[in-house]
Amino acid sequence: MALRNIRIDGDPLLRKRSKEIETIDTRLKILLDDMLETMYDAEGVGLAAPQVGILKRAVVVDIGDGPMKLINPVIKNSSGESFMAEGCLSIPDYSGVVCRPEKLSLEYLDIDGNKKYLEAAGFLARAICHEVDHLEGILFKDKVIPEEQLPKEYLEQERKRERRA
Ligand SMILES: [Zn+2]
Repeated sequence: MALRNIRIDGDPLLRKRSKEIETIDTRLKILLDDMLETMYDAEGVGLAAPQVGILKRAVVVDIGDGPMKLINPVIKNSSGESFMAEGCLSIPDYSGVVCRPEKLSLEYLDIDGNKKYLEAAGFLARAICHEVDHLEGILFKDKVIPEEQLPKEYLEQERKRERRA
């Protein structure tokens, strides 16, 4: 395995749409392993192939429950709303609140090419949405909600969290 260079915001490649993967070969397997290693090294919870310069629909995620490799991920259904601050390995030292679905269902191929179905909620759903956006050339900063537009419930919850910290 090897570390790959993470592309930083401003790189035009981050704004391109990634292509569907048609064959799962050794090269792709190496890419996914490298992506995981790169993500752990950078202390991230997700990484999409375009972030390492490869315009293919592959992402890795690990929110602390173990590594996931998702090939051609497609969000099928989503419901609910969740507000939380996000960051991105391609946008260092920046964070902002993004609204994401509370729950979603996802179809993808695993590393052996099997079609899989996944239900995700909360932080995992958020991480998946963030990575799938990368495959469309969308960065989370495009979706950041200005503080004055945040729902009262979110601000109240944040105030409580700050008091506890
Ligand atoms: Zn990102």
